[in-house]
Amino acid sequence: MKIAILGGGISGVALARMLAADGHRVVVLEKSDRAGGLCKSRRYGEFTFDEAGGHIVFSKDQKVLDWQLARCGGEAGTVRTVRNTKIRWHDRWVPYPFENGVGHLTKEAIVECVAGYVEAFVQRRGGAPCPANFGDWIQWRMGEGFARQFMVPYNEKIWKCDLHTMASSWVAGRVPEAPIEDILKSAVGLDTEGYVHQSVFWFPKHGGFEAMVHGAVAGGGFELQCGVAVTRVERRGDKFFVDGTEFDLVVNTVPLPQIESAFAEIPPDIRADIRALKPISLINLMIGVKLDEPLPPLSWIYLPFPEQGPTNRVTYFSNYSPHNAPAGHGSFLAEVTHRGELRPDAEWLRSVIAALGRSGILHPEHVVLSEWCNNEYAYIYQDLAFADRIARVRDWWDHSGYITFGRFGRYEYHNSDQCVQRAMQVHEHIREISKSGAAARPKFR
Ligand SMILES: Cc1cc2nc3c(=O)[nH]c(=O)nc-3n(C[C@H](O)[C@H](O)[C@H](O)COP(=O)(O)OP(=O)(O)OC[C@H]3O[C@@H](n4cnc5c(N)ncnc54)[C@H](O)[C@@H]3O)c2cc1C
Repeated sequence: MKIAILGGGISGVALARMLAADGHRVVVLEKSDRAGGLCKSRRYGEFTFDEAGGHIVFSKDQKVLDWQLARCGGEAGTVRTVRNTKIRWHDRWVPYPFENGVGHLTKEAIVECVAGYVEAFVQRRGGAPCPANFGDWIQWRMGEGFARQFMVPYNEKIWKCDLHTMASSWVAGRVPEAPIEDILKSAVGLDTEGYVHQSVFWFPKHGGFEAMVHGAVAGGGFELQCGVAVTRVERRGDKFFVDGTEFDLVVNTVPLPQIESAFAEIPPDIRADIRALKPISLINLMIGVKLDEPLPPLSWIYLPFPEQGPTNRVTYFSNYSPHNAPAGHGSFLAEVTHRGELRPDAEWLRSVIAALGRSGILHPEHVVLSEWCNNEYAYIYQDLAFADRIARVRDWWDHSGYITFGRFGRYEYHNSDQCVQRAMQVHEHIREISKSGAAARPKFR
């Protein structure tokens, strides 16, 4: 078949590579000057930075992990790191996840957190139902102390809203759930480890996270057209037309609100649903510093409190690969979320870096480079109407004859490994279509 893939992020190029290997003629149409989407990296002199905050290679699925590592040049092309993540809790460094690090708080805070956790545990055992909103879910799952000491300030910083307006359904599998034994152990000083599927990760030695995208494109056997913003997609009988060119099948991976106007057939109610799918945007600060001594061996840290500035997470990026910064230098990525209103200027950059200085993360006078990059579509804002809205939207696409997937192409809140996993499923689905004939077009879910 002749297949058009809209969007050349990791979802688009991964699928293109798989389909081309089956002998299909595949064209990837990408708006930007190069493939990569949220996985892009960029260089400033001898510094390399990721554009959308710190990205790591990891997966719960070995087949997907192998696929990703192979695109990055395997073990030889990557640096393997044992994750070391912390929360900057006032003047202390607390291991992440917070529940596993509770023993590192002040004695008063330990008692507050453990008492609240036990209370919440008892309530749940007594049948307290899982709340539908995220604000109440935090209290229900973690208790009062964990909520006040970390979960509420941290999440308010990322999501920029009253947490009661957000759904709780998305947290399953994302916010780590520690067993009560782990919390009690940590409280009395016995270290425990949480979030173990991510305890080791990889990163490309050269070129930043984007190296994985290059590895998917190189020798992929498909055509990549960059600088092409798709504006018109339509179906005529059994054929599809993308800006006038005929295809047998069209797969979308572009964020739905950015592509909806190109699809003539979308009915008005579904169009309204798509337009209501608001993203959370991300300003990523790329900071280069001169070093007197090596950076502490941290992977990334969380900054929950307003007095630490607007940054919610800092990646110790030169720790991911020695080639991310020149000799004698280090680099950080500082992530600041917003809802479309933030326009950084030099004064704002200085104030963010000053706050990182006050939080004991860097010395502002050692900064030799500070740049920023805005990512409009970074996180999915899941309000209480999100689940019904996205179900209607997906249902329309899944009956349309088109296929749509990707972090914002299906609003599934996926990391790149899950995008690759989804690409594998779409690949299988298209194998079915080629067997049964394009006209039958079984439904993708
Ligand atoms: C802060 C942050 C940290 C993350 N950390 C990790 C991590 O550590 N590990 C990990 O695996 N994942 C991580 N992720 C997730 C990862 O970045 C995404 O899952 C993945 O990059 C999404 O890929 P995609 O192809 O689905 O979408 P995108 O990357 O958004 O690609 C969509 C593409 O469509 C293009 N496009 C837009 N409009 C048009 C048009 N009209 N015509 C043609 N093309 C168009 C865009 O230019 C873009 O290239 C992180 C994400 C964020 C925001």
